[in-house]
Amino acid sequence: MKIELSEVQQAELLRQSIAGELPDEQGRFGPFGGRYAPETLMPALARLSDGIREHLHEHSFQAELNAELTQWVGRPTALTFARGLSARWGAAVWLKREDLAHTGAHKINNALGQALLAKRLGAERVVAETGAGQHGVAAAAACARVGIPCAVYMGAVDVERQAPNVDRMHQLGAEVISVTAGDATLRAAIDEAFRDWVSDPERSYYLLGSAVGPHPYPYLVRELQSIIGREARSQMLRLAGGLPNAAFACVGGGSNAIGLFYPLLGDADTELIGIEAGGTGSGLGQNAATLVTGTPGILHGSLSLLLQDQDGQVRETHSISAGLDYSGVGPEHALLKLVGRVRYEAATDDEALEALRECCAAEGILPALETAHAFAGARRWAADKRGKRILIGLSGRGDKDMPTLSAALRRDGAKEQAA
Ligand SMILES: *Cc1c(COP(=O)(O)O)cnc(C)c1O
Repeated sequence: MKIELSEVQQAELLRQSIAGELPDEQGRFGPFGGRYAPETLMPALARLSDGIREHLHEHSFQAELNAELTQWVGRPTALTFARGLSARWGAAVWLKREDLAHTGAHKINNALGQALLAKRLGAERVVAETGAGQHGVAAAAACARVGIPCAVYMGAVDVERQAPNVDRMHQLGAEVISVTAGDATLRAAIDEAFRDWVSDPERSYYLLGSAVGPHPYPYLVRELQSIIGREARSQMLRLAGGLPNAAFACVGGGSNAIGLFYPLLGDADTELIGIEAGGTGSGLGQNAATLVTGTPGILHGSLSLLLQDQDGQVRETHSISAGLDYSGVGPEHALLKLVGRVRYEAATDDEALEALRECCAAEGILPALETAHAFAGARRWAADKRGKRILIGLSGRGDKDMPTLSAALRRDGAKEQAA
């Protein structure tokens, strides 16, 4: 599949993106997005679209959501001047602190919003999918708060690898369903969650974890995560004396990045840069850099870029950070790349580790390994520019990554001894 647009078409889609006119009625972001789902799923998706239109921007729903974001999630999250990194990089570096949100990452903004929506729509139970378990924990917490039962599908391989998050979900009252089908990881878990939803779409609500999937999910998740960018934009104007020259966010499925970037799309003097997982190298299977190296295709109900081989087989990915380890990406990012509004680059496992250590030492903040990719990208950008204002989306905290970080320390120690 090849997608080519004329310059006139690109300019018009850029205008529509900035004006907030996308997705269109069919859920399309230009050539990307849409609703490529089995017939059995279509009525449930249509009903969800209707529910969103009726409730999401309605006054009493927004009032309830905002009260919970303030009292329970802890919003607004801080904007922190990164004194140590600024001195090292020769720039003014500001951090939008989603690590300070309840459960330790931006994922709660989406989970809470959708759990409240599920309740509004009269659902009696929520189903969700999770890979590394971070979205499962956020969904379990949000459902407990809202008072609705929650079942989380998780690949059997991930259940094994991510035992602490499985325990956390259990403590929060969720049922965790281990999926042995397919690759027994995130992709299979998503398939099973959709299947569960289709079997009872009136009573169930499917709470999807990133800005991916069939319409209306990429739109819904963007709307719920845009609070990151709205807060950061006004905090930059108030505290930093102006908008950033460049803003950075890591990109897995793309929810924290679209949340930070969307309110900044119209600020033409702000460069927007998404950083993907460069893994161990540029070969297929060695990374999860979907926007940098992927090709158009359909995965989980939408047309976007994805990592596939020449026969269209979706390929396994690799990243040191579980949250970036996904072969697809949200369709809005594919469009923002196509029209040139956002640039996408990759940072390798090693660059992310180094950036994480620098942030710990310079700022006293342990970021998530996912987030560390954004720091690596920002650091590279700052190297040949001085005195610029940089905004980094600090999507989550790194306590969950301690086993990986300890193993990396031991490995590096062994290497040094051998040398
Ligand atoms: C899950 C996760 C991500 C990646 O997901 P997106 O949808 O791309 O934001 C990034 N950072 C953290 C801390 C995460 O937990």
